[in-house]
Amino acid sequence: MNIDFTPDEEAFRAEVREWMRQNVPRSPEAPNFGIPNDYELNRAWERKLADKGWLAYSWPKAYGGPGWTVTQRYIFDAERALAGGPPISPFGVIMLGPVLMKFGSQAQKDRYLPAIRDAKEAWCQGFSEPQAGSDLAALKTRAERRGDRYVVNGQKIWTTHAHWADFIFCLVRTDADVPKQQGISFLMIDMRSPGIEIRPIRTIDGHHHLNEVFFTDVEVPIENLVGQEGQGWTIAKYLLVNERTGIAGVAESKRQLGMLRKVVAADPARASDPAIARRLAELRVQLLALEYTHLRVLDLAARGSPIGLEPSVLKIKGSELQQAISEAELEIGGLECLPWLTDVSGSIRTFKWAAERYNFLRASSIFGGSNEVQKNIMAKLLLAQH
Ligand SMILES: Cc1cc2nc3c(=O)[nH]c(=O)nc-3n(C[C@H](O)[C@H](O)[C@H](O)COP(=O)(O)OP(=O)(O)OC[C@H]3O[C@@H](n4cnc5c(N)ncnc54)[C@H](O)[C@@H]3O)c2cc1C
Repeated sequence: MNIDFTPDEEAFRAEVREWMRQNVPRSPEAPNFGIPNDYELNRAWERKLADKGWLAYSWPKAYGGPGWTVTQRYIFDAERALAGGPPISPFGVIMLGPVLMKFGSQAQKDRYLPAIRDAKEAWCQGFSEPQAGSDLAALKTRAERRGDRYVVNGQKIWTTHAHWADFIFCLVRTDADVPKQQGISFLMIDMRSPGIEIRPIRTIDGHHHLNEVFFTDVEVPIENLVGQEGQGWTIAKYLLVNERTGIAGVAESKRQLGMLRKVVAADPARASDPAIARRLAELRVQLLALEYTHLRVLDLAARGSPIGLEPSVLKIKGSELQQAISEAELEIGGLECLPWLTDVSGSIRTFKWAAERYNFLRASSIFGGSNEVQKNIMAKLLLAQH
């Protein structure tokens, strides 16, 4: 299941592979998959990537990124995941960075982009609210203009890594008297501002990734508004395309499936089981199809072609496949997945975190816009074409 690369691309791949071999953090207690769980490990990793100039790996040279082609970005991400490198936090590099490049003022670009690129400031995403998840435009967090500031009141929920972040980018309501999408603005808020309270939400995988964030009379300078007042919905739609494309998680799925196949091959009882062989083959075929679809979308984006259904397709199929691989892991691993087993040698090393992974990945069909809502988006786009 290999893609053909040019000799230059192969040389690039060898360079990235060697760098990953030398630099990916190793910790027996912190396996590198899915979402980062360990703040110190993650910050150190991102600083290392930043020092090499590879943290903002999808950015053009004009903003201090490496200016890689679509194929180079793909190779980089695949090699990172194959080497077990933690994923790069998407909020600054993947989500806010491109938004500021397209909608931000020169002052905002100068102030915020270098700090993201150099791993000096971490961001989180304040979109969802208790009554505004799938129906995001129903959000109620208010930002009232008072002189040279906005005063923000309200609540966000499911805010990944708010407790790690220096800043939050938020959708806020600046006008309640216009149709709901038109009254939304995009605001960047310093997490150290007086009036912000963070309350942790612990999830079924046993970790603390998520939070509620409360805003009480939080003052935000008006220069932190991105774009125009009322342009927040347009900006959010632009951002969510990048978020959904990233959630496909092809590189991570390849690593997980590769590890599972290795364990099965090394165990004669599992290797000779036709049901396991069929299941692994089906997963490989689906992953290959997803990989090609992902490459096609990246190529369309690089050529500036309009993007339609593709991010939703990637989000749905990518999350379904992550869940299917983690289910196969649990069922093939059986008793070896019991998290309290202390022997971490052999196949138990692979299965040790399978239950945690399985439980975390229940959420992948919900975050970034639930899969049901993605299907609605696709249906609307398709019907509009006919
Ligand atoms: C692990 C995790 C991390 C997250 N991180 C962030 C973050 O960092 N920042 C952030 O802003 N948000 C984050 N979210 C929130 C996420 O975007 C929302 O959970 C998601 O959009 C769904 O919204 P909801 O939870 O309010 O569910 P609801 O909108 O209440 O949906 C409940 C159920 O109803 C279904 N449903 C709703 N409307 C429709 C419809 N019209 N048609 C068919 N079915 C429908 C949904 O598919 C879902 O199954 C995160 C969520 C999770 C689980």
